[in-house]
Amino acid sequence: MRRTLLPFLAALALMVALPTPLFAEESPAEPWYNRLLVGMEVGPTGAQFGSDPSDVKYAEKFSGTDIVAAQLATGSQYIVIWGKDGEYAYYDSKVAPKCPGLGDRDVIRETVEAAKPHNLPVIVYCVVQAGGYPLRQHPEFKMRDVEGKPIERVCLNSGFMGHLKDLVDEMLAYGIQGFHIDMLDQGFGPPYGCWCDNCRARFEKDYGKPMPTSVSWDEAWDRMLEFRYNSCERFEREILAHIKERQPDCSVDFNYHGNPPFSFEIGQRPVQHAHIGDFVTGECGAWGFGALSPSFEALFVRGTDPAAPFQVVMQRGVRMYHDQTTRPLEDMRWEMFSLLMHGAQVTIVDKTPFDGSLDRVAYERYGALFREALAKQEHFGRQHRPLADVGLFFSHRTRDWYARETPRKYFDPVYGAHETVVLGHLPAEFVFDERLTLERLRRHRVVYAPGAAILEPETVALLEDYVRGGGRLLVTGDTGTHDRMGAPQAESALANLIGAKLVRRLDTDDNHVSFPADGGDLDALAAGIPRDWPFLARGAAGIYEPTTARPFGTLHRPFRSVLQQQGKEGLWLPQSPVEAVGPAVLVNDFGKGRVVCIAAAPDTAIGGEFGMPEDRMLIENALRLLDPDPPVRVDAPRFVESAVTAGPEPDTLRVHLVAHVTPPQNTHKDRPLTIPAFIEDKPIYRVSVKVAGGVKEIEAITPTTTVTPAPEGFTAQVEDIHEVFVIRTK
Ligand SMILES: [Zn+2]
Repeated sequence: MRRTLLPFLAALALMVALPTPLFAEESPAEPWYNRLLVGMEVGPTGAQFGSDPSDVKYAEKFSGTDIVAAQLATGSQYIVIWGKDGEYAYYDSKVAPKCPGLGDRDVIRETVEAAKPHNLPVIVYCVVQAGGYPLRQHPEFKMRDVEGKPIERVCLNSGFMGHLKDLVDEMLAYGIQGFHIDMLDQGFGPPYGCWCDNCRARFEKDYGKPMPTSVSWDEAWDRMLEFRYNSCERFEREILAHIKERQPDCSVDFNYHGNPPFSFEIGQRPVQHAHIGDFVTGECGAWGFGALSPSFEALFVRGTDPAAPFQVVMQRGVRMYHDQTTRPLEDMRWEMFSLLMHGAQVTIVDKTPFDGSLDRVAYERYGALFREALAKQEHFGRQHRPLADVGLFFSHRTRDWYARETPRKYFDPVYGAHETVVLGHLPAEFVFDERLTLERLRRHRVVYAPGAAILEPETVALLEDYVRGGGRLLVTGDTGTHDRMGAPQAESALANLIGAKLVRRLDTDDNHVSFPADGGDLDALAAGIPRDWPFLARGAAGIYEPTTARPFGTLHRPFRSVLQQQGKEGLWLPQSPVEAVGPAVLVNDFGKGRVVCIAAAPDTAIGGEFGMPEDRMLIENALRLLDPDPPVRVDAPRFVESAVTAGPEPDTLRVHLVAHVTPPQNTHKDRPLTIPAFIEDKPIYRVSVKVAGGVKEIEAITPTTTVTPAPEGFTAQVEDIHEVFVIRTK
């Protein structure tokens, strides 16, 4: 193994010009997750769908010594090493079967011994939910469906916890610095669980009632969801306490599934499960969730606790983790800098070839990525305070009780909202209905609630306080129109804030809006949009009658053909608009603040299949009407994403840009399931930045960038995937 690997590692090491010491020589005051920027997780490929013990070629060359050498050569600042999956332990375990291909070798021992002289933190990956040997040896660990039939997943209230404690005790004995514990989900869809005897007994103890006998979406199912969430939290807290009791400085983080596209079935809430442990780890994947997923993931996870550290993982594969493909460097640069500029610590997951060796070209690219990240490290990290003008409001209650088993019903407006703020260069971050406070809302100059159908009374009261005190609020589509169990209600929960009565919700979703040629003092709401031209905003809509609000524009319902009225023609393809049924937008001054309600759902349209730029423009216009004078305004092409941070130096702002320019591509055979094309080129584009109060000094860190001073700011021409401007303000 080492014979084949070392020459290329040596070559890589020569290429690494270290700008600063990678690993603190002295004992660092801060734990590793607070001070390090980039690292890797390395695990083998080949046992994720089971493994025959006679397959001794599998992971034969999976070597902790070589993996640590590769970390040092690339500049990776920590290693998350594969310790245990569903089939095997990768160390000398007495309680789990050891991977046969390793022979006498022990990967955790090799890793710890090789890492120690370099102070490279070693974190061990340990899986919970992967089927495999625990369920074969202990069928009593299996979840049960409502009829008592086994589900091939671990019940989090089963005796598996005892086995997990035995495993972590074994691994702690090696002197490791942390655990990354993965897969705490309770399934990715039906059949749901768990109705095992343990769960039934615990449920009766907690609620004094038996479990529901079906997925009933009523009070009994509400208790069941609560029970599932609490089962997950209890499990996490128990193993966390066990580890901390034995080794208080051992870090513990759990892989997070409280984020879209995951919904209630997983058993995690966005906030409740985000920060059990020392920090939270989220995953992005352009392959699975689209090219906006790195940004979405970072802003979502960061919003769960803006004061806490968070990590996001990315990987090299074209389609997914284990596929052994490697994306081009520029594509991975875009992803890594998207995550870094939004404040994440970035871990690159590398899944090795079958025999456990390391892919030479992939490591050359990791080296280039880490080298650049570390050369730019003064511009990243937790000491930089992100500006988040817009708070994207996410309601887990809407996810659970409005969308229920069709999560896109809620995620479409959320995805559309995120796309709008990214393409419009409006700095944003998610804010949640869980554990919401007035102080948390006040972090944002505008709060935008896309399609948050369920707003509970305490949430509405906080939003009223926020706006009354000068906050600005944008709501769209079904926001506030459903009760806490997901049933439509006659009146909007936001009637006071919107300044209008809900007459009725439309039963159509191919609704249109139009704006007059002269919009008076609200004309800016329709900037850039053709006038007297109804355009599709596919999604929920309601007819509102203003009480104190000023109406603007027109909402139109769609035609229905005779065949459609007879139920003989589907409703998938949107119809053209017909009569006007109400105002398109309502603008209401409330206390010292202001509320804009868009009676249609242009964000749902953007997240769906028929969105148009006009949908996005309407939302962006509304956000700019609410906040006309942001502290920093970035104008750049829509393929560029920006982030603005303040500090840590006094009177200093940073504007980060990442460009996502991809060439045309063919569609996938199962269209429209298309993965994004790869970024292979460095684009050239212009950007304009304005800073309230003006700028004193501007520095672009890339030599090819040209900067020209302009009133209140500057313009620049950039020729790279990532650029950062360091701005000293007046
Ligand atoms: Zn159970």
